[in-house]
Amino acid sequence: MKDTYLSLVNGPLKQVAKSLGLPQPVELNRFDSTPEEYLNRPVLVLGAGDGAQGLADLLLDNGLEVRRNAQTGEKVRAVIAVLDDAQSPTDLSPIVLEVGAALRSLVPSGRVITISTAPGAGDQSPEQAAAIQGITGFTRSLAHEMRAGATANGILLDGVDLTAPSVASALWFLLSGKSAYVSGQFLTVASDAGDRLDLKAFMSTGAAGPLAGRSAVVTGAARGIGAAIARNLARDGAEVIGVDMPQAGQALAAVMNEIGGKSLQLDITGADAAEEIAEAVGAPVDILVHNAGITRDKMLANMDSSRWDSVIAVNIAAQAKINAHLAEAGLFANGAQVVSLASTSGIAGNRGQTNYATSKAGVIGLTAASAQDFASRGGSINAVAPGFIETDMTAKMPTLTRQVARRLSSLQQGGHPIDVAEAISFLASSGARGINGQTLRVCGQNMVGA
Ligand code: NAD
Repeated sequence: MKDTYLSLVNGPLKQVAKSLGLPQPVELNRFDSTPEEYLNRPVLVLGAGDGAQGLADLLLDNGLEVRRNAQTGEKVRAVIAVLDDAQSPTDLSPIVLEVGAALRSLVPSGRVITISTAPGAGDQSPEQAAAIQGITGFTRSLAHEMRAGATANGILLDGVDLTAPSVASALWFLLSGKSAYVSGQFLTVASDAGDRLDLKAFMSTGAAGPLAGRSAVVTGAARGIGAAIARNLARDGAEVIGVDMPQAGQALAAVMNEIGGKSLQLDITGADAAEEIAEAVGAPVDILVHNAGITRDKMLANMDSSRWDSVIAVNIAAQAKINAHLAEAGLFANGAQVVSLASTSGIAGNRGQTNYATSKAGVIGLTAASAQDFASRGGSINAVAPGFIETDMTAKMPTLTRQVARRLSSLQQGGHPIDVAEAISFLASSGARGINGQTLRVCGQNMVGA
């Protein structure tokens, strides 16, 4: 649904909004709307250690303009602060203050990315742990301060160094328009698994795309976020098999015809769902996106068993069963990657949604607990938790509630289905296999559960 307020404050009401101190969301630079001029701007890499120099070299090797010091009057597209060598909270000041000084040079939809050791990784002295945890507080707070569509996110190194393949993929994702609606979040790289994708391969599409040669099953692909996921996986080169209820067969066929995909009419709660999915793929399952989900909201005092049970059955029990059946029957390919849809309601809880929040928190738990099993096949399993996304579901909200919900994020607007789809394509890519068992929020740093 169109965000009329966003159009107005970027048009006739710009000055009024400014003088009244009203929220001033801007159109975000997404993958297909990022101007060439933005891409040609330099990236400022801050940090005194070998890690920062190695990272600057990686960016140079990938054709980016790199600066190691801010140049007076020059605009940059991103500031990367490499803080992997922080030993004490007092070590942080030179670099974080340099980040602060560089903020005015950041173009709209610019990026700040911190790179640091993951809290709890390896042996850390109390002082070092304070510095490491401190960086997460810094990044999250800075994300709240960003303006004009700019974001701040972090990459956390858990037992790996900056040369791990997934560090590069995480960087390409966070630097690009693919992460337009991700802010205040962290991607933890915990292994050297995965392919080393260069920036060009990461940004390519179709037969040269990062998912070329792989099959991808998407449940609930007939509409909304699922249709966007299917289109995006196909854009990145995957052969898509869309799954949806028989009642949604026509809409599913329309989406699959558009992207040259294959339709599978199936209720995912059915006893043989896993086998039917594997049969439709015709080979071991490579990429599986558990997107199908329902809401049946009621306050718990009025909750009946059909509302509770149906939400649990579709949103979590079916996912758990399909994963288990495919794994037991050896129907996951080597390197198989699964991405599931959680929700910020599963993190923060939501009034009237005890059933939904239980199921979505369950997705987060299932994902974390399955990581080791997927790693043993060389793959990964992760979840994406969308916040307020402009879909048919949110279009039905009362106008005022919808307006408030949109402005509750640091980016002061709702996300688009494509924003969720981009995170899923990234987590399903071979370059992201070192990221495993995590839940990435795509919520514009929504205050809910922040
Ligand atoms: P939607 O209702 O528009 O689409 C869901 C699709 O899943 C439909 O096509 C439906 O037919 C299908 N489906 C439902 N039950 C099924 C079953 N048993 N078997 C097969 N297919 C089934 O929903 P959406 O807004 O696009 O949301 C997609 C996912 O994202 C859901 O898991 C939802 O919980 C999650 N999510 C959405 C938002 C949002 O703002 N829209 C926010 C957080 C999380």
